[in-house]
Amino acid sequence: MQDRQENSYPSITLADCTACLMCVDVCPTGALGIVTRNGVRGFRRYPKLLYEENCVSCGACSLECAFGAISMKHKAGVSGMGARS
Ligand code: SF4
Ligand code: SF4
Repeated sequence: MQDRQENSYPSITLADCTACLMCVDVCPTGALGIVTRNGVRGFRRYPKLLYEENCVSCGACSLECAFGAISMKHKAGVSGMGARS
């Protein structure tokens, strides 16, 4: 887990994500959306950075995740959240 970094975006490691969706709830800008996909908990609803333009790099989603599934990556290192989700 990491907090705010300028020009960074959340990257989700799907293997660690329990689909609790707390990160979606805590995001102040609605940048995280929900997609149905097959992850570690089977075919469920998982978070995804659907609205990258809304992300203000606050790091709240990363801090909220109790499972360490979200790390903040510099913009250049993330292609949406799909890069690792
Ligand atoms: S808070 Fe963490 S475990 Fe929960 S849905 Fe978000 S990334 Fe997955
Ligand atoms: S870093 Fe902040 S604005 Fe960006 S997705 Fe996470 S909670 Fe939302």
